[in-house]
Amino acid sequence: MTVPADGIDGKESHVSVNQRKKVILSGMRPTGKLHLGHLTGALENWVALQGEYQNYHLIADYHALTTNPDTSDILQNSLDMALDWLAAGIDPAQSPVFRQSQVKQHTELHLILSMLITTARLERNPTLKEQVRDLEMENIAYGHLGYPVLQAADILLYKGEVVPVGEDQLPHIEITRELARRFNAQYPAEPLVFPEPEGKITRFARLPGLDGRRMSKSIGNTIFLSDSPEEITKKMRTAVTDPQKVRKGDPGHPDICLVFAYHNKFNPGEVAEIRSGCESGALGCVDCKLRCAKRIADTVAPMRARRSELETHIDRVHEILRDGETRARAVAERTMDDVHRAMKMG
Ligand code: SF4
Repeated sequence: MTVPADGIDGKESHVSVNQRKKVILSGMRPTGKLHLGHLTGALENWVALQGEYQNYHLIADYHALTTNPDTSDILQNSLDMALDWLAAGIDPAQSPVFRQSQVKQHTELHLILSMLITTARLERNPTLKEQVRDLEMENIAYGHLGYPVLQAADILLYKGEVVPVGEDQLPHIEITRELARRFNAQYPAEPLVFPEPEGKITRFARLPGLDGRRMSKSIGNTIFLSDSPEEITKKMRTAVTDPQKVRKGDPGHPDICLVFAYHNKFNPGEVAEIRSGCESGALGCVDCKLRCAKRIADTVAPMRARRSELETHIDRVHEILRDGETRARAVAERTMDDVHRAMKMG
């Protein structure tokens, strides 16, 4: 049996069902340079999944407007993010990298899906409630309320079957699943237009920021993937540790220490030795931090090298985005043909 593949070149090819890779859509809002939290929370998983699945990597620039309509940095932030993705190992030949705003069908499908959901359902979205509380918002924009609908359009436009999420994020894709079901029920077709995407639980290790809070550029507690060894060392010196270990010789408690959490991630070969040195007091926090900084610098060194090479050939990055946008657009056009046919509007 053969089926049309959602080929990344935009041309209809035919492959056996068994050979066809499942489609994954993953994306981020362009907030500029990426940090260690992005690496451990998403990028490592994306790179690991790219041979097994057909990935589409979305620079969600319209999503960035839902909480802040200022676009003065958006192009540079998008470029910075693309540079970090490519430097971290995203292969654009396998997985198109593209800006949401350059594939107009995202907005068209968003409009159609927005007719199939109530505002009451969107107001129950737990993430929205958190944002309203954290950002102390008195009113929210119409587009902010509807961002899960845009997210659903992003995924369904590529007929995404899998969405990589952390366990706590599974409810986030429920609206996408509901909208796929509702569209298919309202506009039946053979085969049904949209798959119901499933969440793929990944090893999302939440790495705290240097002050122990959520790692965030706006808080200023991050280490960027593009930081130099000197910058990493300087930042690591500020990291919070066990407050009871004031000087070398004091016994420490590594399990409540942020630096130890970083060793666990970036220096697994030495954690046993560090634990015993910390607990006995033989290891001082300054030495411990310097060792940690060195390991982090070693981890990001190949990415920094790739990033700076790409920066000197920025035309290549623009070309990668143009190519990704062309390939994404071709898939999106085919999906919208299916949508219009099912709606008897085609
Ligand atoms: S020695 Fe290392 S693990 Fe122990 S408290 Fe100090 S920084 Fe943390």
